[in-house]
Amino acid sequence: MTDTSEALSIVVIGAGQAGLSVGYHLQRQGLRPGTDFLIVDAGPHAGGAWQHRWESLRFGDAHALADLPGMADAAVTFAGAPSTVPASEVVSSRYGAYEQHFGLRVRRPANVRSVERAAGGALRVNFDDGTAVMARVVIGATGTWRSPRQPTTPGTEVFRGRQLTTPEFTSPAEFADLRVGVVGGGASALGFVRELAPHAAHLTWFTRAPVRFLPVDSQPAKEFGRESVRLQDEAARAGRPLPSIVSTTGMPMTAHLRRMRDAGLLERTPMFTRLVTDGAVMADGTFTALDAVLWALGFEADLGPFEPLGMRARDGVAVEAGHVLAVPGVFLAGYGPQASTISANRGARVIARDALRFLDDGQWPPVPPTPVRASGSGGADD
Ligand SMILES: Cc1cc2nc3c(=O)[nH]c(=O)nc-3n(C[C@H](O)[C@H](O)[C@H](O)COP(=O)(O)OP(=O)(O)OC[C@H]3O[C@@H](n4cnc5c(N)ncnc54)[C@H](O)[C@@H]3O)c2cc1C
Repeated sequence: MTDTSEALSIVVIGAGQAGLSVGYHLQRQGLRPGTDFLIVDAGPHAGGAWQHRWESLRFGDAHALADLPGMADAAVTFAGAPSTVPASEVVSSRYGAYEQHFGLRVRRPANVRSVERAAGGALRVNFDDGTAVMARVVIGATGTWRSPRQPTTPGTEVFRGRQLTTPEFTSPAEFADLRVGVVGGGASALGFVRELAPHAAHLTWFTRAPVRFLPVDSQPAKEFGRESVRLQDEAARAGRPLPSIVSTTGMPMTAHLRRMRDAGLLERTPMFTRLVTDGAVMADGTFTALDAVLWALGFEADLGPFEPLGMRARDGVAVEAGHVLAVPGVFLAGYGPQASTISANRGARVIARDALRFLDDGQWPPVPPTPVRASGSGGADD
């Protein structure tokens, strides 16, 4: 029986910073959105994961968000965006305008259930509604938002209070007058401690190990970004599960954190050993009463749709410069070393270039071009 599914050269799954950057670069290479390549997204609106972030997270609370490539041409840069407006609004409106300006024609809401190898070697992208699209290249840009790390501490099943992970958090007001435990040593956990402190009846910040705060002027703090990217890249190339950033590099002591320290909010409590019905039991047997536990344990790459191709975040996937070594035609944008806005942009250009090369010559892994250096040029690769 002939497969009558829609067929394109490339499908990009996800329209966050990674997917949109890839779309921009594919278009620059001469491919037509909606005809040669298709970007699909499960979310109802523009903005990627940012559309789902809680209302009290203001744009000024976000770390520096770099512009997507070409954002200045579309007159929607982040520079000067109001710091007191919810980050979800700022990012969604700008990404929406960006999609419009470049005519990226994102298809949404369209949730990809699975990606599988079809007869003849093409890739089949299956949607929740039963439809499918065939493509020679699939670029996963699905982010991490739908894959928060889950707690493994004993007792989660007996605790009678409220438990939630980062994506389930909607408002600090919901914790008014409750005894709350925030678990985690990363940026999200610290943000929750700051937001909940004025609302909760009592707040305890639990971490497994002390967080290493880096003085902003110190060499490790200056190299924080580069070091994080290096560690992520090393793990991705080796096919290991991606490491948690903060546990490996420490965290620069920003102005936000200094204010928290001065208010006494950075006093950690060592992680409890188990939850019981109404609280937590510590290693020394003492008890902390809790009404709610907010698990902010970080995220894993959301590779759910790629499981039929043997790709599982928990086991690690060998990825080099965005291409999945063991799966011809599949790229991951925004994965590992490409997770920050600035590195997503850079990675997207390489992925777009290599995807076209693969379509052209069928070689996997894609063969990088021979560098051509103009005399006197530093050959900078932005
Ligand atoms: C709480 C938090 C705060 C962060 N703050 C910052 C910050 O301040 N600055 C910074 O630079 N970085 C920050 N990051 C890191 C990173 O920039 C963001 O996570 C960013 O959203 C990642 O972009 P992305 O394009 O990779 O993924 P996302 O923004 O998550 O976009 C992925 C898209 O894929 C879609 N999708 C997923 N699965 C499917 C599917 N099966 N079918 C169809 N569509 C699918 C989703 O709907 C989503 O729109 C933060 C991360 C987190 C978790």
